[in-house]
Amino acid sequence: MTGLNIEAGASLKHLNSFGFEVTAETLITLTERSQLPLLMAHLAQSGDELLLLGGGSNLVLAPFVPGTVCHMAITGWNLIEQDESCLLQVGAGENWHDTVARTLDEGWYGLENLALIPGTVGAAPVQNIGAYGVELKDRVNRVEVYDREMHRLYWRSADECEFAYRDSIFKSGAPGRFIITAVEFRLSRKARVAIDYAPLQAELSGIADPSPQQVFEAVCRVRRSKLPSPKQLGNAGSFFKNPIVTAEQCAQLRARESELVYFAEPSGRCKLAAGWLIDRCGLKGVRQGAVGTYPKQALVLVNWGGGDREAVELLAERIQQQVQERFGVMLEPEPRFYP
Ligand code: FAD
Ligand code: NAP
Repeated sequence: MTGLNIEAGASLKHLNSFGFEVTAETLITLTERSQLPLLMAHLAQSGDELLLLGGGSNLVLAPFVPGTVCHMAITGWNLIEQDESCLLQVGAGENWHDTVARTLDEGWYGLENLALIPGTVGAAPVQNIGAYGVELKDRVNRVEVYDREMHRLYWRSADECEFAYRDSIFKSGAPGRFIITAVEFRLSRKARVAIDYAPLQAELSGIADPSPQQVFEAVCRVRRSKLPSPKQLGNAGSFFKNPIVTAEQCAQLRARESELVYFAEPSGRCKLAAGWLIDRCGLKGVRQGAVGTYPKQALVLVNWGGGDREAVELLAERIQQQVQERFGVMLEPEPRFYP
């Protein structure tokens, strides 16, 4: 068993995708499951709050993070079975995009639409990551967790994870209770691609029967053309969730705004494109101090340099207020503010 790697006053500048100057009171890097009891003992002794940290790409951190930050760095792949489908366990600290790329190299399909999402495998179930019509829940069999209430490590079935649109038990049902240590995927050995989303279809228009690898490459191209890489420009992806409204509210909005971008949900409700709402308020590409909305996608708030949580909060409030005034819809932030 390895002891705990504990660092006081550690910089998290490279562990938050906004690139904010952030200092953690205490940073622990967790590389093995056997370190979990030591982490629990440390928390009990210090009385610290715990922040689980993957790549920091869905977080808005304050300049000082009190308590203990645990950086999840458990790695490893374990192939459980392989016939028509395959069951694959991946450590929570593995990089998400590298995992997607490697599954395709192995001939295991299903994650291609989720290419180029920053962050770790362990954070993926937290908000049930989704892109281009595929959600993590569609490919997850079980999630391995350390349960801080039951004091034990076990597997939760996909049903027990209560996955929903950009949500799960880990994000809103019981936040802070579970430390995700691995994810078990069920992937297909037969190529079956999902290319309903218009930008993906357009990108693949010249290809009659695209392979998962071609879908992966198309997703990467579309994303690179439209979204800022956090390595070049700090951001946390889509800053607001797409609001879901009643069919009646959607019809009223359409009567006023003929170009409204919306999608009918299986529930009968309608999902509005939050980026379009922000754009329509004239807020695409605006700058407010060190932060702003990205000129190519208004839904992405960016740090042009020297920004911090307060600057992002102020801009987010301005956006919420203007969208509320014009459309009567309250936008809800997607990233987590901490503390
Ligand atoms: P972090 O930001 O470190 O953590 C996110 C949350 O999960 C926090 O609450 C944290 O405490 C918790 N957490 C982290 N690890 C664990 C663990 N092991 N156990 C328990 N809790 C944990 N999201 C999408 O859904 N779809 C997209 O297409 C998408 N595109 C993006 C594009 C860009 C450019 C960026 C910057 C972000 C994008 N995101 C997207 C958001 C983000 O990448 C995902 O939510 C990702 O899963 C976050 O991973 P992370 O490791 O960075 O998590
Ligand atoms: P886009 O393709 O311009 O589409 C705008 C919005 O319309 C998206 O939010 C998407 O909803 C919705 N949409 C488009 N086609 C749809 C369809 N056929 N059925 C249902 N909904 C549809 O969006 P984008 O900003 O370039 O992002 C592309 C994909 O990557 C989206 O799925 C998006 O969620 C994902 N993404 C997520 C983040 C994040 O941080 N969460 C960041 C970047 C990209 P959905 O968002 O529900 O898919």
